[in-house]
Amino acid sequence: MPLVLYDTLTRRKVPFDPVVPGRAGIYFCGPTVYSEPHLGHARGPVVFDVLRRWLEHEGLAVRLVMNVTDVGHLTDDADDGEDKLARRAALERLEPMEVAEKYFWAYFEAMAKLHVRRPSVVPRATGHIVEQIELTKALLERGVAYEVDGSVYFDVSAWSAYGELSGRDPEEQVEGTRVEVRSEKRDPRDFALWKRAEKGHLMRWPSPWGLGFPGWHLECSVMSTKYLGDEFDVHGGGLDLVFPHHECELAQARAAGKPFARVWVHWNMLTLDGEKMSKSKGHVVELAALFERHDPTAVRFHLLRSHYRSLSDFADDALTSSIQGLRRLRAAYASWRAAGGRVPDVDPFGDARARFAAAMDDDLHTPEAIAVLFDVAREANRALETGDVATAAAAVALFEEFLHGVLGVPCEAGAAHDAELLGGVTDLVLEARQAARKQRDFSTADAIRDRLAELGIVVEDTTDGARWRREG
Ligand SMILES: [Zn+2]
Repeated sequence: MPLVLYDTLTRRKVPFDPVVPGRAGIYFCGPTVYSEPHLGHARGPVVFDVLRRWLEHEGLAVRLVMNVTDVGHLTDDADDGEDKLARRAALERLEPMEVAEKYFWAYFEAMAKLHVRRPSVVPRATGHIVEQIELTKALLERGVAYEVDGSVYFDVSAWSAYGELSGRDPEEQVEGTRVEVRSEKRDPRDFALWKRAEKGHLMRWPSPWGLGFPGWHLECSVMSTKYLGDEFDVHGGGLDLVFPHHECELAQARAAGKPFARVWVHWNMLTLDGEKMSKSKGHVVELAALFERHDPTAVRFHLLRSHYRSLSDFADDALTSSIQGLRRLRAAYASWRAAGGRVPDVDPFGDARARFAAAMDDDLHTPEAIAVLFDVAREANRALETGDVATAAAAVALFEEFLHGVLGVPCEAGAAHDAELLGGVTDLVLEARQAARKQRDFSTADAIRDRLAELGIVVEDTTDGARWRREG
């Protein structure tokens, strides 16, 4: 097929050439389930959902695998420190699996609202300990790993291709790894395949090297090849995963004799008002809060209005412009449908269809594909004004196929629109309350706050103005 994707490993666009003709095997790194899903979790799944939908539209059978990390992703450089899941469990006095379960489902609820279809397989790291031990054994046998006191490390010096994915030279590979006082690693670049469990470590399993747990990178090499074969079509993840995570995944798999992924696809980061989102600085937007104010499918539409390899910003005005644009498309669609025409024998949008396909085939250029939909809307609106209901009917069919089918954005707002409406009306009411406060009419301001509280909307006055959230 004519699809080309930008490959991080070879640093160029490569044709999509499936291992098994007619089928596509795709893997991408999913969430670590130890906190509420936030905006940073949304882009990758949306992009890969669109890739899957486009391949299916083009007649391929797609198997999409996304892992869920529920052990082994550690606080520091993935080798040292406390496991994030275990730490959270200690804080909340829950079993680690209880924490993982809670955020696992919160994640999938949020993805469902974004109209992200469930992956074909969702393997969890804790469910593949046996396979991870097997790969560790294989790497030891091949002489690219060594054991120290119950832990097993990958020996980077024994694998000369290390660095090929990220393009980092050995010096840069050391950057970011923690300098330890008394390291048992032979080289600071070496990474853990298996870690000995210290006393009190909650998540641990028996292994040939004693009680321990797998290193974070290991699960993806194991689970991708288990469900897709030793060679598969696409491996994806956020740009922040290229090093060290994907570099290590690739080294582990190839050093064990597996060809691994044909194409590496990485999506860029999201920024918030131009600033990088950071969980540690509290500079994130939780999806649950965002969806109280905005139609999640409009958020999806906004994500697709930037190309996946460029930065996407979530400034309020950018999001608002996407929401308004989608509203225009949906209003047009509704009017074409209401006209009740029949689709003509000759499609008046043959050229638009070709341009949409060309945009998608060009490394999933969704902003250009969306621009084609706006062109179609203008043309169909003009046609409808002259009473040409057949062209309007053709536009209905095209929107259902491309906007809904391929981009995964429903052509009708549905119930999600209610949330958006509620958000808009509440903001309006709070503006009126703010005006009352300015005129020192505090009894009106308080009455508005109390009435909103009765409706389950809690208002908080902060130095940045009033904020609101829904209770229950
Ligand atoms: Zn991974």
